[in-house]
Amino acid sequence: MKIPKEILEIIDKLQKANFEAYLVGGCVRDLLLKKQPKDWDITTNARPEEIQKMFPESVYENEFATVLVKTNSKLSALKTIEITTFRQEGKYTDKRHPDTIKFAQTLEEDLSRRDFTINAMAMEVGIRNQESKVKEKNTSIIHDSKFIIPRIIDPFNGQEDLKEKFIRAVGNPQERFQEDALRLMRAIRFACELNFQIATETFKAIQKNAPLLKFIAQERIRDEFTKIIETPRASQGILLLQQTNLLSQFIPELEKTIGVTQNKHHLYTVFEHLWRSLEYASQKNYSLEVRLASLFHDLGKPKTKEGEGTNATFYNHEIVSTQMTRQILTRLKFPTEKINKITLLVRYHGFVYDPEITTDAAIRRLLVKVGSQNIQELAQLREADRIGSGCPKALPFRLRHFLFKVEKIIKQLEGKEPSLKMLKINGNDIMKITKLKPGPKIGFLLNILLEEVLDDPQKNKKDYLKKRTQELNHLSEKELQQMDKKAKIKYQNLLANEENKIKRKYKV
Ligand code: ATP
Ligand code: MG
Repeated sequence: MKIPKEILEIIDKLQKANFEAYLVGGCVRDLLLKKQPKDWDITTNARPEEIQKMFPESVYENEFATVLVKTNSKLSALKTIEITTFRQEGKYTDKRHPDTIKFAQTLEEDLSRRDFTINAMAMEVGIRNQESKVKEKNTSIIHDSKFIIPRIIDPFNGQEDLKEKFIRAVGNPQERFQEDALRLMRAIRFACELNFQIATETFKAIQKNAPLLKFIAQERIRDEFTKIIETPRASQGILLLQQTNLLSQFIPELEKTIGVTQNKHHLYTVFEHLWRSLEYASQKNYSLEVRLASLFHDLGKPKTKEGEGTNATFYNHEIVSTQMTRQILTRLKFPTEKINKITLLVRYHGFVYDPEITTDAAIRRLLVKVGSQNIQELAQLREADRIGSGCPKALPFRLRHFLFKVEKIIKQLEGKEPSLKMLKINGNDIMKITKLKPGPKIGFLLNILLEEVLDDPQKNKKDYLKKRTQELNHLSEKELQQMDKKAKIKYQNLLANEENKIKRKYKV
């Protein structure tokens, strides 16, 4: 593992001006683990204004006493390097930000305000006179420049915790979590990213202080939660969040699935089924969207459950799950396009496919609803759903057959998305033919034509569609509305207003 020259040059410059300067925090931890650091942080006893003087291409972030130094690097992780002046822990009235930034005199003091022992180490990088390749005895970090690492500063035994694989708060865990409640989430995140255990006292302090999470901005919770979900151990993360009482703080909807039994088709309770589905999706390295859809796809089951025991039913649970998923993701301030995709997957996770019964037209209709760009992920969600139910085979014959069929149908459509856009006639053409003004009738006509074309793509020819428009134009608006409604029912299972009725019934 190499320390980039941009970093070494900054440290060298600070040292030449008689300041102390060290690599610190996550990058030291990752170097010791022989992992590529995500970003590089430098700590120094130089004051922000002194740092700025030395690096004219820099910006001072007052809130954290951090100077951002710009480099010429093309790598995004190296474009701006954070240099932070030694700091003390301030008072945290809001459990989030220290009230005032107080500078510290020593490196040890700075390290003592950091969250976990494995993040509270510094690395002194010095200059060596002769050029050589050096392999450090304890770290196996190789340097191919004149720089070497003389020592690691580790006052809280972070190296031992790295070896023993422990996430342990620096100092008194109660106080650490009370100062900054984001650390509650960070503990779980590091446990998942590194596959470490949380030390007992630290774990207990998280359980006790979990309610403090309410002081943390949803965006910051979202970022840590996303990092947990993106690890290969996402499902363990969910279990840890649950055991530490954090889950009920920010996704109480998931907590409500605990202990909810299903019916004769299911081995597991709803909660176990959901985390097992996520487990599979994360092991397969599926997208964040598929992972979150796997975790949330049956959230509506507790609300829709009717009857008990082997015959319990969950009619319309996917509609309720979709609405609940949208509420959770909106609350956590996920970007709109992610919310739309995840809710779409949840909404259609129960699509029916039987090679002997399902027609090509039905698949074209599914494509209209889901969009061909999302079909692969819908199939992945279905796989995760199956495995998470305890089925041994993820991709059974049916699902493989389905994907094969989809591919064939997309080819037949010459790459065109099955939607109103694929029609060889548009609203303007219809207005010309019928002399109608813009209004609902145009929409009805287009939907009816699309439905016919979905049934039989051969009909997607301008002449035919013109002729058919003239025929349909003889019908009244009311009759067309009826036909449109029928067409919609055919490809939408339930009309939007029926969905709304269901949402109202279950208060979602
Ligand atoms: P990552 O690999 O995600 O970058 P990291 O440990 O480097 O992990 P950063 O958020 O980049 O995390 O923070 C850098 C360092 O700053 C941490 O290693 C830790 O020493 C300190 N730190 C960050 N956030 C906190 C916090 N909330 N409380 C205390 N120390 C923190
Ligand atoms: Mg970092």
